[in-house]
Amino acid sequence: MRLSRFHLATVKEVPADAEIASHRLMLRTGMIRKLAAGIYTWSPLGLRVLSKVENVVREEMNRAGALELLMPSVQPKELWEETGRWQKFGGQLLKIKDRKDAEYCYGPTHEEVITDYARNELRSYKQLPVNFYQIQTKFRDEIRPRFGVMRAREFLMKDAYSFHLTADSLADEYRNMYDTYGRIFTRLGLKFRAVQADTGAIGGNASHEFQVLADSGEDAIAFSSESDYAANIEKAESLAPAQARPAPAQALERVPTPTQKTIDEVSAFLGVKPAQCVKTILVRGNDGLVALCVRGDHEVNEVKAAKLAEMPGESVLADEAEIVRATGTKPGFIGPVGLPENIPVIVDRDAAVLADFVCGGNADGTHYRGANWERDAHVTRVEDIRKVVEGDASPDGRGTLSIARGIEVGHVFQLGDRYAEALKATVLDDAGKSQVMQMGCYGIGVSRIVAAAIEQNHDDAGILWPEPMAPWQVVICPINAAQNAQVREEADKLYAELSARGIDVLLDDRGLRPGPMFADMELIGIPHRIVVSERGLAAGTFEYRRRGESENRAIARDEIAQLIS
Ligand code: ATP
Ligand code: MG
Repeated sequence: MRLSRFHLATVKEVPADAEIASHRLMLRTGMIRKLAAGIYTWSPLGLRVLSKVENVVREEMNRAGALELLMPSVQPKELWEETGRWQKFGGQLLKIKDRKDAEYCYGPTHEEVITDYARNELRSYKQLPVNFYQIQTKFRDEIRPRFGVMRAREFLMKDAYSFHLTADSLADEYRNMYDTYGRIFTRLGLKFRAVQADTGAIGGNASHEFQVLADSGEDAIAFSSESDYAANIEKAESLAPAQARPAPAQALERVPTPTQKTIDEVSAFLGVKPAQCVKTILVRGNDGLVALCVRGDHEVNEVKAAKLAEMPGESVLADEAEIVRATGTKPGFIGPVGLPENIPVIVDRDAAVLADFVCGGNADGTHYRGANWERDAHVTRVEDIRKVVEGDASPDGRGTLSIARGIEVGHVFQLGDRYAEALKATVLDDAGKSQVMQMGCYGIGVSRIVAAAIEQNHDDAGILWPEPMAPWQVVICPINAAQNAQVREEADKLYAELSARGIDVLLDDRGLRPGPMFADMELIGIPHRIVVSERGLAAGTFEYRRRGESENRAIARDEIAQLIS
């Protein structure tokens, strides 16, 4: 590509809401432009990168035996009602009406559509197993779209769905996809980790996420110091503590804490450690409020909480008015002692082994000291409801946990018969008997990968693309070409030669001075730069520099093509 014929539109200033490096750099390079919240145009530069990612994904999916198809984005309500997800998917589902008032959604995912396709297409076990995939635009009305294309509302996903007669066959394909994902992210040059995952709104049994490791990641992942255990913190089990609960030693005493509401304030005021306090969170249950009690130094895990029998499948905090109505007390002073009996009290395993603890006094401006379970506070059930923390024992019994941040770029699920059953997707087995198919589903956030790669690969000057994603592999920078015919000719010749070798090469023929030219090329992250100058030509060399290095190397003109390929 000759840059004079391309639309490169780098900018210096970016809006203040671009909080993370990838968002800033995608705007500065002009890869994306915002149309509306979470909705972006991919410029010609951005699309070059996106397409490279897409092609790697496609090649590896094809190699793994999956079959590409393309499903509609707009999906009828009736199909989503068959699986119960028209309601259950929640606010993320963008619902639309046509001129006849018929309702549709813009597809956030395609389990319904593919299962409908499969129930019509697949009749016999002989057609199984089969794995269909597409690379297509999705829409999810995210509560907080942010970080540019990282958490967008409209984004590009590769989604695959496999169909099987047996659970064993599903497990085989799950393994195949797990390995394929490993190959895709390795080929793209990303540092990633596969972690055990919660199955969320998609449902099903086994599930792993592929997480690109980056400090700016929205996900926390827990991994063991001594085994290959790794899990999203949403899923990571916190083991029951080994010690038993000591017997009560103190009397229950209500003490004034006029303005102290948070654990930090209360523990400092009363001179006790946060770990000796019980934090009580009130959430909306199926039947009024539910109290979740964790140790003061721990946090409630909302995903675990959402799964409690008392909960409607999601964990939403009660607001102040609800809390006052249900308890007569303001938030900040709630505790398990003397809570109205209709509020179930679910106690985390670690909080359950405390004796003589501090907790809210259930009267404004007070807390209890010397509180004890059973003696003073009713316990509905003890459960694992907290987030694991650094230093916890690994759930597999080997080593302790560390916590790192990650960006979820892929997710594989064994769905089992969850969708096939609801949509009656059956085939005849070898005995002529009708069987509900087993399903797997496998997603990759194609557009998110672009941002994730930048999070992992950037410096002060801009992006350092992993080679397979770079918009161009090489840029040729002629110096003073307008004044020097030889520089112009040599640059053209090199451009033709590298192009002929099938190398993705950019010729910066805009006629910029070296400073701004180099700055642009570093910003957009081209891995290899070749400078053609009068001085170099006199010595029979080009100047070569690899992006990220600080030294130029003089390379003989006839060696350069060799070096690059
Ligand atoms: P997240 O937890 O990040 O919201 P998810 O678990 O809801 O994602 P999946 O349903 O597993 O997402 O979708 C498959 C893949 O699509 C994800 O692994 C992620 O890479 C990508 N993805 C999901 N939501 C978004 C989004 N809002 N913007 C960009 N990519 C997304
Ligand atoms: Mg996911």
